[in-house]
Amino acid sequence: MEHPENNEAYKGLTVNAGVEQPSSVNPYLKRKVRRRELSVDEYVDGIRQGNITILSQAVTLVESVLPEHQAVAQEVIEKCLPYAGNSVRIGISGVPGAGKSTSIDVFGLHVLEKGGKLAVLAIDPSSERSRGSILGDKTRMEKLSVHPASFIRPSPSAGSLGGVARKTRETIILCEAAGFDKIFVETVGVGQSETAVHSMVDFFLLIQLAGTGDELQGIKRGIMEMADGIVINKADGNNIEKAQLAATQFRNALHLFPAPESGWTPQVLTYSGFYNLGVKEIWDMVYAYIAFVKANGYFEYRRNEQSKYWMYESINEQLRDSFYHHPVVAPLFRQKEQQVLQGELTSFVAAKELLDTYFRELRHD
Ligand code: GDP
Repeated sequence: MEHPENNEAYKGLTVNAGVEQPSSVNPYLKRKVRRRELSVDEYVDGIRQGNITILSQAVTLVESVLPEHQAVAQEVIEKCLPYAGNSVRIGISGVPGAGKSTSIDVFGLHVLEKGGKLAVLAIDPSSERSRGSILGDKTRMEKLSVHPASFIRPSPSAGSLGGVARKTRETIILCEAAGFDKIFVETVGVGQSETAVHSMVDFFLLIQLAGTGDELQGIKRGIMEMADGIVINKADGNNIEKAQLAATQFRNALHLFPAPESGWTPQVLTYSGFYNLGVKEIWDMVYAYIAFVKANGYFEYRRNEQSKYWMYESINEQLRDSFYHHPVVAPLFRQKEQQVLQGELTSFVAAKELLDTYFRELRHD
């Protein structure tokens, strides 16, 4: 009977030549080579040439909390400043679900029709908590995100509102130096972030919905006063009449406010981002505003006021940071808190003691 073991050549224990084993290391995962750090001038040159990779890297530095990154970032920003400022900056705000992503997608394509470059940035101090899913996420702006003239950057991750906003403002400078002549800054219409956005844009566009009771909310929170234009989204299907009614209500409500400093009367329009209806009218309004305030000097004035505002904001932020994170002062907070709660110290005395400790430490530094 034929059996391999009857064959003389059979050695019982033969070792096959075997096949070459694939490496256990995934060849598609590039070995982590530390990227050579770019010099300040390399960043600046890259940005000025409109190199998106370098721009993104510079924005990452701006967003970094590492002091050495911040030092480079500040130098890059300073060198980019002379080339910045040449854009129209638009703030876009609305509560979640108002249709910001849908709208920014069509707004973006609309403003790019005439050429130029658009950067979409965001301010969302809560983005870390929600794992960055809220703002700036590319997948939310399907068409715009694949447009060659667009740059979409999510909100810097969570931190104090002031900190997040400062980073976005600095990113605007880098984008402008890279030749972006249109900047959108998006924010969720809840809380203080509108004030921050308002303080860095030329036009503040408030997206509202009909029949949500939000009209009053907007008035209460002082957001409507900031708006240079209010647009009511989802004016489509059987929602058109409701949207028009809401527009009338907003127009009436706007009469309650003092005339804006710009001399421009905020307009209220209805549109549908989803069906791309009324979008042209919105942008005609925005550009009419820009022409109006450029002619009467308010454009310059507002930007100057914003620069001053950011100088003080920056001081406040750094002072606060330096105080709250001081290695000697920080550990004392809980103790003082307890003493206040137990009635051993008044709030004011506790505050004074902490501040005194801080100033004493500074003198010894
Ligand atoms: P965001 O949270 O403000 O970014 O809002 P989204 O853009 O994600 O939109 C929220 C929901 O509203 C989505 O389901 C959209 O499809 C819908 N939506 C957005 N714009 C319109 C619109 O113009 N008309 C209608 N009917 N629905 C819209």
